[in-house]
Amino acid sequence: MENNRRKFLKNLAGLSGLAASAAPGLANAGSSSATHVQDIRLSKNKDYVRLVFDLDGIADHSIFTLHKPERVVLDIKKSKMPHGMVDQIQANSLIRSIRSGVRNDKDLRIVFDLSKAVTPRSFLLAPSGKSGHRLVIDLHDNKTLTRAKRTHKRDVIIAIDAGHGGKDPGATGRSGTREKNITLQIAKRLEKYINQQRGMKAVLTRKNDRFMRLRDRIHKARDSHADLMISLHADSFPDPRARGSSIYALSVDGASSETARMLAEKENAADLLFGDVNLAVDDQMVKEVLFDLSLTGTIESSLDIGSEILGQIKSVNRVHKKKVQQAGFAVLKAPNIPSVLLETAFISNPREEKSLRSSSHQQKVAKAIMRGVGKYFARKAPPGTWLASSDGEYRVNRGDNIEAIAAKRKISEKDLRARNALYADNLMAGQVLKIPVS
Ligand SMILES: [Zn+2]
Repeated sequence: MENNRRKFLKNLAGLSGLAASAAPGLANAGSSSATHVQDIRLSKNKDYVRLVFDLDGIADHSIFTLHKPERVVLDIKKSKMPHGMVDQIQANSLIRSIRSGVRNDKDLRIVFDLSKAVTPRSFLLAPSGKSGHRLVIDLHDNKTLTRAKRTHKRDVIIAIDAGHGGKDPGATGRSGTREKNITLQIAKRLEKYINQQRGMKAVLTRKNDRFMRLRDRIHKARDSHADLMISLHADSFPDPRARGSSIYALSVDGASSETARMLAEKENAADLLFGDVNLAVDDQMVKEVLFDLSLTGTIESSLDIGSEILGQIKSVNRVHKKKVQQAGFAVLKAPNIPSVLLETAFISNPREEKSLRSSSHQQKVAKAIMRGVGKYFARKAPPGTWLASSDGEYRVNRGDNIEAIAAKRKISEKDLRARNALYADNLMAGQVLKIPVS
């Protein structure tokens, strides 16, 4: 994985218009000219004050707080700012004054004098639309932050995408089973299982038999603020003996195998046939997506989630490929959202076609996907979600059981199971459980 990432970053650096310093760990590589601050904008929100620095390139930065008096210090490496620019920001109830200066002859330091303690958050935004590179600083009021921590824990959102639909039937089995119907049935079962779990909420990209372009599926996932997108499909192959499940993540530097490449072409084809925009060759969008993916490690997360799901699928179906495969599936190109595509089985294999139609098999598949997803988010839920919450830990002793631990810690057994992805009853002595907040 580490090698893949390095290779990926190297390739990324070669893309036109993207500086190598965009990638974490490669900061400042190969660039010697200064970045310029072109403008500073301030906006006030309910719980925080936002400052946006418009830059003419990518800059490495760091931010920290100083106390008594309260200050936030922002250092932007190898950057320049016109004299007096900070003066255009008016003092307000939080920011008393702003000062700036040059450090080490080349770095820019900006000091915010504040009236109360804050927690700063910062992130970079890639050019998009009319906006160029931006460095965003959010100053969160510490008081509202602790209050929010205690009261609001959001759900992890899982976008479930039933492949194909409407005039695009997908693959058809020998007995006439259509991929678009199977994917929708499994999607609905998966939705039910996910919504039964505390801390997770499912959103379907389509709820009925209708055609949807790939980019509309991505938009739907993005608009629902999904933390993960799972696209469901069923494979087909001329040889009816081909069988088994496989799972895919996006690749940015070529497919992991010829089969993976051909499959991606097949799954992308609906948009070429029926849609007016082909996402796969939309250059500008692809570039923006790559930029985004590189900054957030989205592909690595996708591979991680993919192998959790594959690990669970193994118990209900034969696995066609033992590892998560990679190819350029257009539907997996949602910026910032880890995404996987599951070929549940071969609809072209008469035996698998039969099991794909069976409701008990569909249930098993949906349950296995839910468990894989649960296992991943029990480890790596995004901050601010209930699944990332922790009210301490519990080390399992010999003879402990889940019900007794829940009673001892005054939480529900269902919550304890969901927070730790405990889908079976066996515990191991020494195993550490997270105690969720109630
Ligand atoms: Zn498909």
